[in-house]
Amino acid sequence: MPELPEVETIANGLHKRVAGDRIESVWVGSKPEPLKSPAQEISATLEGANIERVRRVGKHIVVDLGSRKSSGASQWIVHLGMTGRMLVVNPETDLPKHTHLVAKLKSGRELRFVDPRRFGRLEVRHEAFSGPGAEPLDISADEFAELFHRSKAPIKAALLNQKLLHGVGNIYADEALFRAGVRPRRRANTLRRAELNKLHAGLQKVLKAAIAAGGSSVSDYVDADGEEGFFQIQHRVYGRGGKPCVKCKTPIKKIVVGGRGTHYCPKCQK
Ligand SMILES: [Zn+2]
Repeated sequence: MPELPEVETIANGLHKRVAGDRIESVWVGSKPEPLKSPAQEISATLEGANIERVRRVGKHIVVDLGSRKSSGASQWIVHLGMTGRMLVVNPETDLPKHTHLVAKLKSGRELRFVDPRRFGRLEVRHEAFSGPGAEPLDISADEFAELFHRSKAPIKAALLNQKLLHGVGNIYADEALFRAGVRPRRRANTLRRAELNKLHAGLQKVLKAAIAAGGSSVSDYVDADGEEGFFQIQHRVYGRGGKPCVKCKTPIKKIVVGGRGTHYCPKCQK
């Protein structure tokens, strides 16, 4: 599943390619799962709209649409799910089987939403979308500490709780906890302020590094150009169960926290 850095990379890529273009017509497929808003409403909102900006909010791609004659500004919100892709292509490009939406652009290109497993979602909104939870790259150390000091959940589960922070996924939660020296099963409210500060800094650092590397997907999806090829940042614990810790050589442990595979160093993390 694409995590925050991948979604940021995809949103930035889309922004570069389609901002300033205009959606002339829209085709919506007949499969109901990807449509969080009714097909009619999606078409009516998108058709004739100018694409002002494409950005990431949490793990969503938000397409800000310019207001038309009478209606106010609207947004097209895309959640990629497991296998969703947003492709900017020429109309002659083969239409993949699992295409759920095609937006024809004034520039002559098409913006397509393709999703074989159909966990992705398409939605339109007419008021600003911010999603629940705080943005992990914007939150201050004080606000970050405030989120966790009353939670009795394991800190790993709290990091993944989208009502607290939006967009932090499994890989980056493990990596941030390693950098902070904190065990994933610790109850969030037992972390000292110094540990929370380290976790805040570690999380932002690892997310920024991954964005700079173009996301670090381990799954199969492509960027806005339809090109494969995200670079993988070097994970220190994630996916390294049984391998020696990069700091102390102790074998990395793999456990399950909140139903998610979780990796940590039993020596470096307390
Ligand atoms: Zn270690």
